[in-house]
Amino acid sequence: MKTTRRNFLKLSAVAAASLPATSLMASTKTANKPIVISTWNFGMQANEEAWKILIANGRALDAVEAGARVPESDPKETSVGLGGLPDRDGHVTLDACIMDENGNIGSVAGLEHIVHPVSVARKVMEKTPHVMLVGEGALQFALANGFKKEKLLTKESEQAWKNWLKEGKYKPIANIENHDTIGILALDTKGNLSGACTTSGMAYKMHGRVGDSPIIGAGLYVDNEVGAATSTGVGEEVIRIVGCHLVVELMRQGNLPEQACKLAVERIIQKNPAKAKEVQVGFLALNKSGEYGAFCLQKGFSYAVHSDSINQLFDSSSIY
Ligand code: ASP
Repeated sequence: MKTTRRNFLKLSAVAAASLPATSLMASTKTANKPIVISTWNFGMQANEEAWKILIANGRALDAVEAGARVPESDPKETSVGLGGLPDRDGHVTLDACIMDENGNIGSVAGLEHIVHPVSVARKVMEKTPHVMLVGEGALQFALANGFKKEKLLTKESEQAWKNWLKEGKYKPIANIENHDTIGILALDTKGNLSGACTTSGMAYKMHGRVGDSPIIGAGLYVDNEVGAATSTGVGEEVIRIVGCHLVVELMRQGNLPEQACKLAVERIIQKNPAKAKEVQVGFLALNKSGEYGAFCLQKGFSYAVHSDSINQLFDSSSIY
């Protein structure tokens, strides 16, 4: 059955009636469209760029791409784009994806030497019959489409990697320094949703490792009838439950965004209880009505929100 706005509201009302009053209040944050929300502290700057497009009646797709490009080109952000921490062999390998209101998708994984993987993902979406390019093929495609080959490993990231090598223990890190993958979701003035996600992945991962971030359904999902979701944290756990598709489907069933994120986090615990205690995963979601929310495993995940009434960083609720 097609979820019309009427159905959607009806479903929300059914779900609301079955929730305790306190959890309902905690779950409901609403803003008029347009609105943009994104993961971690660096979401504040990303949202500023996205907002310029949204407030000029631009498309959510353009807004999320512009927002994601901000931490990608910031050499001080060590978990995205330029300056990203390398894999255990010293390669900076980037993952990104993008999804629009029509269900169009594009993705790159293990891309080296290109500062803006999110824009390469958009080109994959718009210029190829495929949805995902990886490694050398993704690089060739980027170069053929005018992207410049650059050195992404900064002195600081190289030094951090060399320090890590001294211990030589294989323990990739997520949730470092309070920021990681940027996932960004927007609802434009026309009421259309889009999302993007970009990361250098887990620091010191095995060469060739791909996390959730470039995988549509895992690190990002958009359904223009319902809502959008993105994730951050240990990608292996998110892929296992196809996290963001799950969050969107939970919203379709009538759950508000925070509740949908919480249920997905609980699914991670249910599938892998021992691991869930040790790692971070956070989900962020926005529905078609401009309601938004987040939930994570461990304390420490923050998200940024920009609408006409708010430009603020929130702490996500957590299980532990
Ligand atoms: N989700 C990303 C990955 O697994 C990393 C992160 O957000 O910390 O590659």
